[in-house]
Amino acid sequence: MKLSELTNGLCAVIAEKGVKQLITLSNQALSLGADLVELRLDLLEEEFSIPDILRSISGPKLVTIRRKSDGGSWIQDEQTRINFLLQAQQFGAQAIDVESDCFHHFQASDLCLRILSFHHFAETPNNINALHKQFESLQPDLVKIACLANKNSDVVRILGLYDQAKIPLIAFCMGSIGFPSRILSLTKKSPWMYANFSLEMVNAPGIPTLNDVRAIYDLKNLSTQTDIFGVVGDPIGHSMSPVIHNACYQFLGYNGVYLPFHVATADFEAALKGYECLPVKGYSVTIPHKEKAFQFASSCSSLVKEIGAANTLVKTKDGFYAENTDATGILAALENRLGNTLLGRKVLILGAGGVSRAAVFALKKAGCIVHITNHNRDRAEKLALEAKVICLDWNNRHNFNSGLLLNCTPVGMDPLVNETPWDSNSFSKDHIVFDTVYNPIETRFLMEAKKAQAITIDGLEMFVCQAAEQFKLFTSLSASLDVMRNTAMKKLRKTEV
Ligand code: NAP
Repeated sequence: MKLSELTNGLCAVIAEKGVKQLITLSNQALSLGADLVELRLDLLEEEFSIPDILRSISGPKLVTIRRKSDGGSWIQDEQTRINFLLQAQQFGAQAIDVESDCFHHFQASDLCLRILSFHHFAETPNNINALHKQFESLQPDLVKIACLANKNSDVVRILGLYDQAKIPLIAFCMGSIGFPSRILSLTKKSPWMYANFSLEMVNAPGIPTLNDVRAIYDLKNLSTQTDIFGVVGDPIGHSMSPVIHNACYQFLGYNGVYLPFHVATADFEAALKGYECLPVKGYSVTIPHKEKAFQFASSCSSLVKEIGAANTLVKTKDGFYAENTDATGILAALENRLGNTLLGRKVLILGAGGVSRAAVFALKKAGCIVHITNHNRDRAEKLALEAKVICLDWNNRHNFNSGLLLNCTPVGMDPLVNETPWDSNSFSKDHIVFDTVYNPIETRFLMEAKKAQAITIDGLEMFVCQAAEQFKLFTSLSASLDVMRNTAMKKLRKTEV
């Protein structure tokens, strides 16, 4: 297929110091499903022959020799660079990437696209619309614009360029704030997106790896019809939510995409208002935005009102509806294991932070007799008073020798996996032990409870249940818990390596 006909493609960026490695990785990327490779020849540290390289790679290739001033590594003279690019055009490259100031050196050709590229590694310039028009006036075959996003509104401005484009366009923002635009550009008819397949560092902040893109996103099905969801937080790169939600969309054949939206605390409201034009239909909300999400919503569940925080926002015709699926997810995880038996159960919650708050109100509503304890007693007392539950002293927590024990502290979480909030001698087989920590899945807390023959429930169960509740609110479909759990486990295991 001609590159000019490509849609929803994946371009593997290959930036290597050695020619042999460049060729090997290019062929590997193509065999793994990349539609084309971008050969970043500016990184080569040995002499090379353009015709030999092009001949050795069996698939569409785009040749780039990026100057240092444009964010690349090329430090030799400009004429040599132009000569190499002219050779690439002549000896079988399907595309060359050149900048506006040297564009006039390259004649139009049916066989080789001339991509006019613009990179800005510090910002998305205010005059990006005017620059885009100026680039189009040079009549390239394709315009590529890649700028760093410092604000969420930069993402909106970059994606807005597609509305005025007369020539095929690849426009996206770099950086973690900009990441969603890399994927969403394909819903705007961008012919391809870039992913890294190099062992060397590519100077392209926020560029995902080829393997991650292939594992998480269903690029070929992205279109204007695709429903957009995501998780909003700061930081957000570590979130497992995109992995499990997208896996479930693909499993059910639902036309949706779920993205990580990096939004700083001060930008929450402005970002969500700006993203209405994308439009985003629902958000999972994580640290530090859960209280803000509750305040931002125009309606919410009674549980959210009590907790004062939400982890889910669903777009309705009257604004956003807020839910707290940390709370409903804890209930669902318990009910999946214990059936409908929560009424009258004795519960001790360890910790008095955000998740404890969700657990306290949810379990109280479900009819449990809730106790709470925290190493800083004041915090537990305050929450107990507000929720009208019982506060225990942290030093007396082991007197709670039966019933449901719920760890809502981060104790035992990677990397402090040898820690536990409970003395192993104080577990009994009459405990039901639930850890909200899911990294690792088997915490020391759970392992020691298991040894004492207590029933155990892990944090991944809660994570999957809260995600499944969100999935239902977002799509009106039932998620597959198995698909979500297996995908999350795979991802957690990879992170452990
Ligand atoms: P948070 O608001 O920071 O609250 C943490 C609580 O743990 C606070 O009460 C804190 O007490 C207490 N704590 C912290 N370090 C402690 C220590 N060394 N010993 C004893 N207590 C300690 O955090 P959160 O948002 O509630 O999250 C808590 C945990 O829930 C996270 O670590 C995460 O693993 C888990 N989580 C799981 C899911 C899931 O889906 N499975 C979802 C969200 C969160 P002070 O503030 O008084 O120090």
